[in-house]
Amino acid sequence: MTKKNSVGTLCVQAGYNPGNGEPRQIPIVQSTTFKYSSSDQMGRLFDLEDSGYFYTRLQNPTNDAVAAKIAALEGGVAAMLTSSGQSANFFACFNICEAGDHMISTASIYGGTFNLFGVTFKKMGIDVTFVDQNASEEEIAAAFRPNTKLVFGETLSNPGVRVLDIEKLARVAHSHGVPLIIDNTFPTPVNCRPFEWGADIVTHSTTKYMDGHGVGVGGVIVDSGNFDWEANAEKFPGLCTPDESYHGLTYTKKFGRMAYITKATSQLMRDLGAIQSPQNAFYLNLGLQSLAVRVKRHNESALKVAKFLEANPLVKWVRFPDLESDPDHALAQKYLPGGSCGVMSFAIEGGREFANRFMDSLKLVTIETHVADCYTCILHPASHTHRQLSDEQLREAGVDPDLMRLSIGLEDADDLIADITAALEAAASQN
Ligand SMILES: *Cc1c(COP(=O)(O)O)cnc(C)c1O
Repeated sequence: MTKKNSVGTLCVQAGYNPGNGEPRQIPIVQSTTFKYSSSDQMGRLFDLEDSGYFYTRLQNPTNDAVAAKIAALEGGVAAMLTSSGQSANFFACFNICEAGDHMISTASIYGGTFNLFGVTFKKMGIDVTFVDQNASEEEIAAAFRPNTKLVFGETLSNPGVRVLDIEKLARVAHSHGVPLIIDNTFPTPVNCRPFEWGADIVTHSTTKYMDGHGVGVGGVIVDSGNFDWEANAEKFPGLCTPDESYHGLTYTKKFGRMAYITKATSQLMRDLGAIQSPQNAFYLNLGLQSLAVRVKRHNESALKVAKFLEANPLVKWVRFPDLESDPDHALAQKYLPGGSCGVMSFAIEGGREFANRFMDSLKLVTIETHVADCYTCILHPASHTHRQLSDEQLREAGVDPDLMRLSIGLEDADDLIADITAALEAAASQN
Protein backbone atom coordinates (compact mmCIF):
# COMPACT_ATOMS: atom_id res chain seq x y z
CA MET A 1 0.00 0.00 0.00
CA THR A 2 1.22 3.51 -0.70
CA LYS A 3 -0.04 6.88 0.45
CA LYS A 4 -1.04 7.51 -3.16
CA ASN A 5 -4.09 5.31 -2.71
CA SER A 6 -7.27 7.20 -1.92
CA VAL A 7 -8.74 7.21 1.54
CA GLY A 8 -11.49 4.70 0.70
CA THR A 9 -8.91 2.14 -0.46
CA LEU A 10 -6.68 2.72 2.57
CA CYS A 11 -9.70 2.18 4.86
CA VAL A 12 -10.11 -1.32 3.48
CA GLN A 13 -6.55 -2.51 2.89
CA ALA A 14 -3.86 -0.41 4.60
CA GLY A 15 -1.86 -1.81 7.52
CA TYR A 16 -2.18 -5.50 6.75
CA ASN A 17 -0.89 -7.40 3.74
CA PRO A 18 -1.34 -11.16 4.15
CA GLY A 19 0.99 -13.58 2.43
CA ASN A 20 0.02 -16.75 0.56
CA GLY A 21 -2.51 -18.82 2.48
CA GLU A 22 -2.70 -16.36 5.38
CA PRO A 23 -6.00 -15.03 6.78
CA ARG A 24 -7.60 -12.33 4.61
CA GLN A 25 -8.95 -10.48 7.68
CA ILE A 26 -6.55 -9.17 10.36
CA PRO A 27 -6.31 -12.02 12.89
CA ILE A 28 -6.99 -11.34 16.57
CA VAL A 29 -3.73 -12.26 18.29
CA GLN A 30 -5.26 -12.97 21.68
CA SER A 31 -1.98 -13.65 23.45
CA THR A 32 -0.27 -11.78 26.25
CA THR A 33 3.23 -13.04 25.41
CA PHE A 34 5.35 -14.34 22.57
CA LYS A 35 7.77 -17.26 22.58
CA TYR A 36 11.53 -17.12 21.88
CA SER A 37 14.11 -19.89 21.76
CA SER A 38 17.22 -17.75 22.33
CA SER A 39 17.89 -15.86 25.54
CA ASP A 40 20.12 -13.45 23.69
CA GLN A 41 17.36 -12.52 21.22
CA MET A 42 14.93 -11.80 24.07
CA GLY A 43 17.60 -9.58 25.64
CA ARG A 44 18.00 -7.58 22.43
CA LEU A 45 14.23 -6.98 22.32
CA PHE A 46 14.36 -5.52 25.82
CA ASP A 47 17.21 -3.22 24.78
CA LEU A 48 15.21 -2.05 21.73
CA GLU A 49 18.09 -3.43 19.64
CA ASP A 50 15.82 -5.81 17.71
CA SER A 51 12.18 -5.24 16.84
CA GLY A 52 9.74 -7.99 17.70
CA TYR A 53 6.85 -8.87 19.97
CA PHE A 54 7.39 -9.96 23.53
CA TYR A 55 4.52 -8.62 25.66
CA THR A 56 1.16 -7.23 24.53
CA ARG A 57 1.35 -4.22 26.90
CA LEU A 58 4.14 -2.96 24.62
CA GLN A 59 3.12 -4.29 21.23
CA ASN A 60 0.67 -6.74 19.68
CA PRO A 61 0.35 -7.70 15.98
CA THR A 62 -3.41 -6.98 15.79
CA ASN A 63 -3.01 -3.56 17.36
CA ASP A 64 -0.01 -2.77 15.17
CA ALA A 65 -1.87 -3.59 11.96
CA VAL A 66 -4.80 -1.36 12.95
CA ALA A 67 -2.48 1.44 14.10
CA ALA A 68 -0.61 1.20 10.77
CA LYS A 69 -3.91 1.57 8.92
CA ILE A 70 -4.78 4.74 10.85
CA ALA A 71 -1.25 6.09 10.28
CA ALA A 72 -1.74 5.55 6.53
CA LEU A 73 -5.16 7.25 6.64
CA GLU A 74 -3.72 10.34 8.34
CA GLY A 75 -0.54 10.30 6.20
CA GLY A 76 1.71 9.82 9.26
CA VAL A 77 4.80 7.67 9.84
CA ALA A 78 3.55 5.68 12.85
CA ALA A 79 0.66 5.35 15.29
CA MET A 80 -0.11 3.81 18.67
CA LEU A 81 -3.52 2.56 19.82
CA THR A 82 -4.65 3.45 23.35
CA SER A 83 -7.47 2.24 25.60
CA SER A 84 -9.55 5.42 25.07
CA GLY A 85 -9.55 8.87 23.52
CA GLN A 86 -8.77 10.27 26.96
CA SER A 87 -5.60 8.19 27.24
CA ALA A 88 -4.62 9.15 23.67
CA ASN A 89 -4.72 12.86 24.53
CA PHE A 90 -3.01 12.24 27.86
CA PHE A 91 -0.15 10.24 26.30
CA ALA A 92 0.18 12.60 23.32
CA CYS A 93 0.92 15.54 25.64
CA PHE A 94 2.70 13.67 28.43
CA ASN A 95 5.17 12.25 25.89
CA ILE A 96 6.51 15.84 25.60
CA CYS A 97 5.46 17.66 28.81
CA GLU A 98 6.47 16.88 32.36
CA ALA A 99 6.15 18.53 35.79
CA GLY A 100 7.28 22.15 35.55
CA ASP A 101 6.27 22.47 31.88
CA HIS A 102 3.52 24.53 30.28
CA MET A 103 1.27 23.97 27.27
CA ILE A 104 -1.36 25.93 25.35
CA SER A 105 -4.78 24.57 24.38
CA THR A 106 -7.74 26.12 22.64
CA ALA A 107 -10.65 26.56 25.04
CA SER A 108 -13.37 25.02 22.83
CA ILE A 109 -12.51 21.38 23.38
CA TYR A 110 -14.24 18.22 24.59
CA GLY A 111 -15.22 18.48 28.28
CA GLY A 112 -13.19 15.41 29.25
CA THR A 113 -10.05 16.87 27.68
CA PHE A 114 -10.73 20.24 29.32
CA ASN A 115 -10.81 18.48 32.70
CA LEU A 116 -7.69 16.45 31.93
CA PHE A 117 -5.76 19.62 31.08
CA GLY A 118 -7.26 22.03 33.61
CA VAL A 119 -7.51 19.75 36.65
CA THR A 120 -5.43 16.56 36.35
CA PHE A 121 -2.46 18.06 34.49
CA LYS A 122 -2.36 20.81 37.07
CA LYS A 123 -2.05 18.19 39.83
CA MET A 124 0.81 16.64 37.87
CA GLY A 125 2.62 19.96 37.69
CA ILE A 126 1.83 20.77 34.06
CA ASP A 127 0.29 24.20 33.59
CA VAL A 128 -2.19 24.73 30.73
CA THR A 129 -3.27 28.10 29.30
CA PHE A 130 -6.55 28.04 27.40
CA VAL A 131 -6.85 30.45 24.46
CA ASP A 132 -9.75 31.51 22.24
CA GLN A 133 -9.16 29.74 18.93
CA ASN A 134 -10.44 32.77 17.03
CA ALA A 135 -7.87 35.06 18.67
CA SER A 136 -5.20 36.60 16.42
CA GLU A 137 -1.74 35.04 16.04
CA GLU A 138 -0.33 37.86 18.18
CA GLU A 139 -2.82 37.21 21.00
CA ILE A 140 -2.08 33.47 20.96
CA ALA A 141 1.68 34.17 20.82
CA ALA A 142 1.31 36.18 24.05
CA ALA A 143 0.38 32.96 25.91
CA PHE A 144 3.81 31.37 25.26
CA ARG A 145 6.34 31.02 28.08
CA PRO A 146 9.94 29.79 27.98
CA ASN A 147 8.73 26.37 29.25
CA THR A 148 5.84 25.99 26.75
CA LYS A 149 6.13 22.58 25.06
CA LEU A 150 3.14 22.21 22.74
CA VAL A 151 -0.09 23.65 21.33
CA PHE A 152 -3.32 21.60 21.31
CA GLY A 153 -6.68 22.03 19.52
CA GLU A 154 -9.62 20.13 17.98
CA THR A 155 -10.26 20.31 14.21
CA LEU A 156 -13.97 20.41 15.03
CA SER A 157 -14.78 21.09 18.66
CA ASN A 158 -17.04 18.71 20.58
CA PRO A 159 -19.85 19.67 21.13
CA GLY A 160 -19.83 23.18 19.62
CA VAL A 161 -18.63 22.03 16.12
CA ARG A 162 -16.44 25.11 15.70
CA VAL A 163 -13.81 24.83 12.95
CA LEU A 164 -10.17 25.34 13.93
CA ASP A 165 -7.84 27.40 11.72
CA ILE A 166 -5.14 24.69 11.79
CA GLU A 167 -2.63 26.62 9.64
CA LYS A 168 -2.79 29.62 11.98
CA LEU A 169 -2.12 27.48 15.05
CA ALA A 170 0.68 25.58 13.28
CA ARG A 171 2.38 28.89 12.38
CA VAL A 172 2.25 30.15 15.97
CA ALA A 173 3.42 26.81 17.41
CA HIS A 174 6.30 26.41 14.95
CA SER A 175 7.50 29.99 15.32
CA HIS A 176 7.94 29.13 19.03
CA GLY A 177 9.72 25.83 18.30
CA VAL A 178 6.93 23.54 19.56
CA PRO A 179 4.62 21.00 17.86
CA LEU A 180 0.90 21.30 17.18
CA ILE A 181 -1.26 18.39 18.40
CA ILE A 182 -4.72 18.10 16.82
CA ASP A 183 -7.63 15.99 18.07
CA ASN A 184 -9.21 15.00 14.74
CA THR A 185 -12.02 12.84 16.19
CA PHE A 186 -15.04 14.52 14.59
CA PRO A 187 -13.85 14.97 10.98
CA THR A 188 -11.83 11.71 10.79
CA PRO A 189 -9.13 11.56 8.08
CA VAL A 190 -11.92 11.15 5.53
CA ASN A 191 -12.98 14.78 5.97
CA CYS A 192 -9.68 16.39 7.06
CA ARG A 193 -6.03 15.35 7.35
CA PRO A 194 -4.44 17.89 9.72
CA PHE A 195 -0.85 16.96 8.71
CA GLU A 196 -1.56 18.52 5.30
CA TRP A 197 -2.15 21.82 7.11
CA GLY A 198 0.96 21.74 9.30
CA ALA A 199 -0.14 19.77 12.38
CA ASP A 200 2.59 17.50 13.78
CA ILE A 201 0.67 14.94 15.85
CA VAL A 202 -2.96 13.82 15.56
CA THR A 203 -5.14 12.05 18.14
CA HIS A 204 -8.56 10.41 17.94
CA SER A 205 -11.19 9.03 20.20
CA THR A 206 -11.76 5.97 17.99
CA THR A 207 -14.89 5.42 20.11
CA LYS A 208 -16.68 7.82 17.76
CA TYR A 209 -16.82 7.55 13.93
CA MET A 210 -13.79 5.26 13.51
CA ASP A 211 -15.54 2.49 15.44
CA GLY A 212 -18.85 3.96 14.36
CA HIS A 213 -21.13 1.29 15.79
CA GLY A 214 -21.01 2.03 19.52
CA VAL A 215 -18.96 -1.11 20.17
CA GLY A 216 -15.64 -0.26 21.82
CA VAL A 217 -13.98 2.63 23.65
CA GLY A 218 -10.54 3.38 22.18
CA GLY A 219 -8.04 5.97 21.04
CA VAL A 220 -5.04 6.49 18.80
CA ILE A 221 -2.04 8.81 18.47
CA VAL A 222 -0.51 9.37 15.03
CA ASP A 223 2.82 11.10 14.40
CA SER A 224 3.56 12.88 11.12
CA GLY A 225 7.29 12.38 11.74
CA ASN A 226 7.76 15.97 10.54
CA PHE A 227 8.57 17.83 13.75
CA ASP A 228 12.30 18.44 14.23
CA TRP A 229 12.81 17.77 17.95
CA GLU A 230 16.58 18.17 17.64
CA ALA A 231 16.22 21.74 16.34
CA ASN A 232 14.96 22.68 19.83
CA ALA A 233 16.61 19.84 21.75
CA GLU A 234 16.73 21.81 25.02
CA LYS A 235 12.90 21.92 25.07
CA PHE A 236 12.51 18.15 24.59
CA PRO A 237 14.99 16.37 26.85
CA GLY A 238 12.76 13.27 27.00
CA LEU A 239 13.28 12.73 23.28
CA CYS A 240 16.71 14.26 22.72
CA THR A 241 18.75 13.13 25.74
CA PRO A 242 19.57 9.58 26.92
CA ASP A 243 16.76 7.54 28.53
CA GLU A 244 18.24 5.89 31.61
CA SER A 245 15.46 3.27 31.61
CA TYR A 246 16.88 2.04 28.25
CA HIS A 247 20.61 2.03 28.99
CA GLY A 248 21.09 5.60 27.87
CA LEU A 249 19.45 5.28 24.44
CA THR A 250 18.43 8.61 22.81
CA TYR A 251 15.12 8.32 20.90
CA THR A 252 15.80 10.97 18.24
CA LYS A 253 19.28 9.60 17.49
CA LYS A 254 18.26 5.95 17.33
CA PHE A 255 14.79 6.18 15.78
CA GLY A 256 14.76 9.42 13.73
CA ARG A 257 11.24 10.17 12.49
CA MET A 258 9.90 7.28 14.60
CA ALA A 259 11.27 8.79 17.85
CA TYR A 260 8.00 10.19 19.24
CA ILE A 261 5.87 7.03 18.80
CA THR A 262 8.73 4.75 19.88
CA LYS A 263 9.07 6.73 23.11
CA ALA A 264 5.29 6.70 23.68
CA THR A 265 5.19 2.92 23.21
CA SER A 266 8.36 1.79 24.91
CA GLN A 267 8.25 4.25 27.80
CA LEU A 268 4.71 5.56 28.48
CA MET A 269 2.83 2.40 27.50
CA ARG A 270 5.40 0.27 29.34
CA ASP A 271 4.91 2.32 32.52
CA LEU A 272 1.24 3.36 32.32
CA GLY A 273 -0.27 0.42 30.43
CA ALA A 274 -3.41 1.97 28.90
CA ILE A 275 -3.45 -0.48 26.00
CA GLN A 276 -6.30 -1.29 23.68
CA SER A 277 -7.22 -4.98 23.77
CA PRO A 278 -6.54 -6.87 20.52
CA GLN A 279 -10.23 -7.84 20.46
CA ASN A 280 -11.26 -4.17 20.51
CA ALA A 281 -8.63 -3.35 17.88
CA PHE A 282 -10.25 -5.99 15.67
CA TYR A 283 -13.68 -4.36 16.11
CA LEU A 284 -12.11 -0.97 15.42
CA ASN A 285 -10.72 -2.31 12.16
CA LEU A 286 -14.17 -3.46 11.05
CA GLY A 287 -15.35 0.11 11.62
CA LEU A 288 -12.39 1.54 9.73
CA GLN A 289 -13.05 -0.66 6.71
CA SER A 290 -16.32 1.17 6.03
CA LEU A 291 -15.24 4.58 7.39
CA ALA A 292 -15.06 6.41 4.06
CA VAL A 293 -18.49 5.13 3.02
CA ARG A 294 -20.09 5.91 6.37
CA VAL A 295 -18.58 9.37 6.81
CA LYS A 296 -19.85 10.42 3.38
CA ARG A 297 -23.34 9.37 4.44
CA HIS A 298 -23.05 11.16 7.82
CA ASN A 299 -21.96 14.32 5.96
CA GLU A 300 -24.83 14.20 3.47
CA SER A 301 -27.57 13.33 5.95
CA ALA A 302 -26.43 15.94 8.47
CA LEU A 303 -26.47 18.69 5.84
CA LYS A 304 -29.95 17.64 4.75
CA VAL A 305 -31.25 17.68 8.34
CA ALA A 306 -29.47 20.99 9.10
CA LYS A 307 -31.09 22.63 6.06
CA PHE A 308 -34.48 21.27 7.13
CA LEU A 309 -34.05 22.65 10.67
CA GLU A 310 -32.87 26.02 9.36
CA ALA A 311 -36.07 26.36 7.30
CA ASN A 312 -38.42 25.32 10.15
CA PRO A 313 -40.25 28.23 11.88
CA LEU A 314 -40.12 26.52 15.31
CA VAL A 315 -36.30 26.43 15.14
CA LYS A 316 -34.50 29.51 16.52
CA TRP A 317 -31.06 28.78 15.13
CA VAL A 318 -28.86 25.96 13.78
CA ARG A 319 -25.09 25.72 14.11
CA PHE A 320 -23.48 23.43 11.52
CA PRO A 321 -20.33 24.51 9.64
CA ASP A 322 -21.53 23.16 6.29
CA LEU A 323 -24.43 25.65 6.31
CA GLU A 324 -23.67 28.89 4.47
CA SER A 325 -25.18 30.81 7.39
CA ASP A 326 -22.65 29.35 9.87
CA PRO A 327 -19.97 31.77 11.13
CA ASP A 328 -17.30 29.08 10.52
CA HIS A 329 -18.47 28.26 6.99
CA ALA A 330 -15.42 29.82 5.27
CA LEU A 331 -13.06 27.79 7.50
CA ALA A 332 -15.13 24.66 6.81
CA GLN A 333 -14.82 25.22 3.05
CA LYS A 334 -11.05 25.43 3.43
CA TYR A 335 -10.39 22.55 5.83
CA LEU A 336 -13.45 20.33 5.31
CA PRO A 337 -14.49 20.85 1.68
CA GLY A 338 -16.20 17.44 1.37
CA GLY A 339 -18.27 17.87 4.55
CA SER A 340 -17.52 18.29 8.25
CA CYS A 341 -19.24 15.56 10.33
CA GLY A 342 -22.68 14.48 11.48
CA VAL A 343 -22.96 16.61 14.61
CA MET A 344 -24.82 19.93 14.88
CA SER A 345 -26.45 22.05 17.54
CA PHE A 346 -29.75 23.90 17.31
CA ALA A 347 -32.33 25.59 19.49
CA ILE A 348 -36.12 25.58 19.35
CA GLU A 349 -38.54 28.20 20.60
CA GLY A 350 -40.39 27.65 23.85
CA GLY A 351 -37.85 26.89 26.59
CA ARG A 352 -37.07 23.73 28.57
CA GLU A 353 -40.65 22.47 28.77
CA PHE A 354 -41.16 22.61 25.02
CA ALA A 355 -37.74 21.03 24.47
CA ASN A 356 -38.64 18.15 26.79
CA ARG A 357 -41.99 17.57 25.08
CA PHE A 358 -40.17 17.61 21.73
CA MET A 359 -37.56 15.08 22.84
CA ASP A 360 -40.15 12.80 24.45
CA SER A 361 -42.09 12.75 21.17
CA LEU A 362 -39.10 11.59 19.12
CA LYS A 363 -39.20 7.94 18.09
CA LEU A 364 -36.18 7.26 15.86
CA VAL A 365 -33.92 9.90 17.39
CA THR A 366 -32.92 8.65 20.83
CA ILE A 367 -31.83 10.54 23.94
CA GLU A 368 -28.18 9.61 24.61
CA THR A 369 -25.03 11.08 26.16
CA HIS A 370 -23.00 10.17 23.12
CA VAL A 371 -22.29 11.37 19.61
CA ALA A 372 -20.74 10.33 16.33
CA ASP A 373 -21.83 6.80 15.57
CA CYS A 374 -24.49 5.03 13.51
CA TYR A 375 -27.39 5.90 15.85
CA THR A 376 -28.98 9.34 15.61
CA CYS A 377 -29.16 10.83 19.06
CA ILE A 378 -29.99 14.06 20.84
CA LEU A 379 -29.01 15.69 24.10
CA HIS A 380 -30.35 18.84 25.75
CA PRO A 381 -27.68 20.14 28.16
CA ALA A 382 -30.20 22.22 30.14
CA SER A 383 -32.26 19.08 30.85
CA HIS A 384 -29.38 16.59 31.07
CA THR A 385 -25.67 17.31 31.59
CA HIS A 386 -26.25 20.81 33.05
CA ARG A 387 -29.70 20.30 34.63
CA GLN A 388 -28.70 21.65 38.04
CA LEU A 389 -28.12 25.12 36.55
CA SER A 390 -30.74 27.87 36.15
CA ASP A 391 -31.22 29.46 32.71
CA GLU A 392 -29.21 32.44 33.90
CA GLN A 393 -26.36 30.25 35.17
CA LEU A 394 -26.40 28.35 31.88
CA ARG A 395 -26.00 31.58 29.90
CA GLU A 396 -23.13 32.58 32.18
CA ALA A 397 -21.49 29.21 31.38
CA GLY A 398 -21.89 29.99 27.68
CA VAL A 399 -24.66 27.40 27.13
CA ASP A 400 -27.88 28.59 25.52
CA PRO A 401 -30.69 27.05 27.67
CA ASP A 402 -32.44 26.06 24.43
CA LEU A 403 -29.37 24.44 22.83
CA MET A 404 -29.74 20.84 21.73
CA ARG A 405 -26.95 18.71 20.35
CA LEU A 406 -27.97 16.41 17.51
CA SER A 407 -25.73 13.67 16.10
CA ILE A 408 -26.95 12.30 12.79
CA GLY A 409 -26.39 8.56 12.37
CA LEU A 410 -26.74 6.27 9.39
CA GLU A 411 -30.54 6.01 9.29
CA ASP A 412 -32.33 7.39 6.24
CA ALA A 413 -32.29 11.20 6.41
CA ASP A 414 -35.90 11.52 5.24
CA ASP A 415 -37.06 9.20 8.04
CA LEU A 416 -35.15 11.34 10.56
CA ILE A 417 -36.69 14.54 9.18
CA ALA A 418 -40.16 12.97 9.39
CA ASP A 419 -39.48 11.97 13.03
CA ILE A 420 -38.27 15.47 13.95
CA THR A 421 -41.19 17.10 12.12
CA ALA A 422 -43.73 14.91 13.95
CA ALA A 423 -42.10 15.59 17.33
CA LEU A 424 -42.04 19.37 16.76
CA GLU A 425 -45.75 19.24 15.81
CA ALA A 426 -46.60 17.08 18.83
CA ALA A 427 -44.78 19.47 21.18
CA ALA A 428 -46.38 22.54 19.59
CA SER A 429 -49.91 21.05 19.71
CA GLN A 430 -49.69 20.80 23.52
CA ASN A 431 -48.99 24.54 23.86
C1 LIG B 1 -15.14 11.51 23.08
C2 LIG B 1 -13.98 12.39 22.82
C3 LIG B 1 -12.78 12.25 23.53
C4 LIG B 1 -12.61 11.23 24.65
O1 LIG B 1 -12.63 9.95 24.10
P1 LIG B 1 -13.04 8.62 24.92
O2 LIG B 1 -12.83 7.56 23.88
O3 LIG B 1 -14.44 8.78 25.36
O4 LIG B 1 -12.09 8.50 26.05
C5 LIG B 1 -11.74 13.08 23.22
N1 LIG B 1 -11.86 14.03 22.26
C6 LIG B 1 -13.00 14.19 21.56
C7 LIG B 1 -13.08 15.26 20.52
C8 LIG B 1 -14.10 13.38 21.81
O5 LIG B 1 -15.24 13.56 21.12
